[in-house]
Amino acid sequence: MSRIIVIGCGQGGLVAAKHLADSGHEVIVYEAERRENAAHPWRDDIRRAVFEEAGLAPLPIEDCVQKSKWKFVSPDGKSTLRVPMTPPLEEISIDRKYLLDRLLSECKNVEINFESPVERLIVKDEKVAGVVVGGTEIPADMVIDASGYNSKFRRQVPGKFGIPEPHNDDKLCAFRGYYETDLTKELPVPPCTLYVKHLGGNGIDWCNLNPDDKADILIGRIGELPDDEITKAKESLLKEHAFNTGKPFFERRVDISLRYPAGIMVADGYAVVGDSAFMTMPMMGSGIESSMKAGRMLAETIGRECDFTAKSLYPYQLKFFKQFGFAYVFVDVLKRWALNLPAEVVDKAFSSGIVTDEDMALLSTDENAKGPGAKFIFKKIGIALKNFGFVAKALKCAVKGIRAMSYAKKIPKKYDAAKLRKWADKLDLKVRK
Ligand SMILES: Cc1cc2nc3c(=O)[nH]c(=O)nc-3n(C[C@H](O)[C@H](O)[C@H](O)COP(=O)(O)OP(=O)(O)OC[C@H]3O[C@@H](n4cnc5c(N)ncnc54)[C@H](O)[C@@H]3O)c2cc1C
Repeated sequence: MSRIIVIGCGQGGLVAAKHLADSGHEVIVYEAERRENAAHPWRDDIRRAVFEEAGLAPLPIEDCVQKSKWKFVSPDGKSTLRVPMTPPLEEISIDRKYLLDRLLSECKNVEINFESPVERLIVKDEKVAGVVVGGTEIPADMVIDASGYNSKFRRQVPGKFGIPEPHNDDKLCAFRGYYETDLTKELPVPPCTLYVKHLGGNGIDWCNLNPDDKADILIGRIGELPDDEITKAKESLLKEHAFNTGKPFFERRVDISLRYPAGIMVADGYAVVGDSAFMTMPMMGSGIESSMKAGRMLAETIGRECDFTAKSLYPYQLKFFKQFGFAYVFVDVLKRWALNLPAEVVDKAFSSGIVTDEDMALLSTDENAKGPGAKFIFKKIGIALKNFGFVAKALKCAVKGIRAMSYAKKIPKKYDAAKLRKWADKLDLKVRK
């Protein structure tokens, strides 16, 4: 039996913990927050089938709440696109605290310690060999870093493994709040409204009426979000949505990963999972799904017996890239291009039919998780062809995305630290340049 420590009780960490404990390992989770603060106090959208796909008990149907309908508003506020719905309860709105409860109930054989922030990793002979909590050294055969986007542990891993750090523009700096509602006022139809490049900002804002009748505001900007930007955007959203009284239940800042997954996910005695490995689909989310499935992949890679070297853990990274990573590289390239389009061009895309409701469905569902196939790529090119001014740039971007994805697929099939580092560095250039 080996001892495995998981830092953070997010979805990826807990799914890995459950499966590893079921395989007979001693698994200890350290979570910095108190039990009641350990999950965000809001709802998010996921596919219902993810639970079974991650090897967990299915969600009871009576606990499932249909995902709400969304509309997207153009930067000039004049045009909207609606996101068509998937079949009933295929995608659900899930309360994060309920999600945490479900995951914890799966972790029967796991020792879970709340209010126990990990201070640092223990590194011995260039191998991660445990953690320090409350000044005490806790040795382990392996540490799973599930501590989120701002993990401080990635850079404590010996440099020779090259675990990457994010760039400043890899994140959406977000402010999210829940507010009391006045249901006698005009209610939004559909309930969720997302503003693209709202008030000229580089990012998105939303103001929603949630299934639990609470108002939900998110203000997100790429790279940085100054306080005065929050004040300005919030005032505008409250003015447009009278049902939102502006009396907060809570308000908090948080970072959301917008980039492709980490090009190096393993080291001797160490692996990253979830947001600490940037496992969201750039700009479109799905981080809960990717993290839960990654947790299972990691546990299956470790199995019952493992020497916990980077070489033994590497099939986990290969599985993740095959199922999600290659596609996310393509989406990342599209995202960087789309985010840099001037607001007038986005307005034109909304108003001229270059982008349609159907495209919004394609972009907001998980169809791309298997990889953007020819259908997606040619569809995007077809859309661009409808507007001549758009053509050159769109084609260039699609080609660049395909090239980056094709290069990603050249990921070393066997672990070789130097080759992997070279591949990861070149991939980064291909996505960013
Ligand atoms: C506003 C917002 C909306 C989102 N919407 C969606 C959505 O609709 N659908 C979707 O699929 N995904 C969504 N996501 C993304 C999703 O939340 C993440 O991708 C997913 O939860 C994986 O996160 P994580 O568990 O890796 O990290 P986190 O959720 O950040 O969890 C990390 C945990 O580690 C703990 N921790 C940190 N440091 C330490 C330490 N030193 N010691 C011990 N514990 C520590 C933290 O307290 C935290 O509990 C959204 C994210 C945000 C912020």
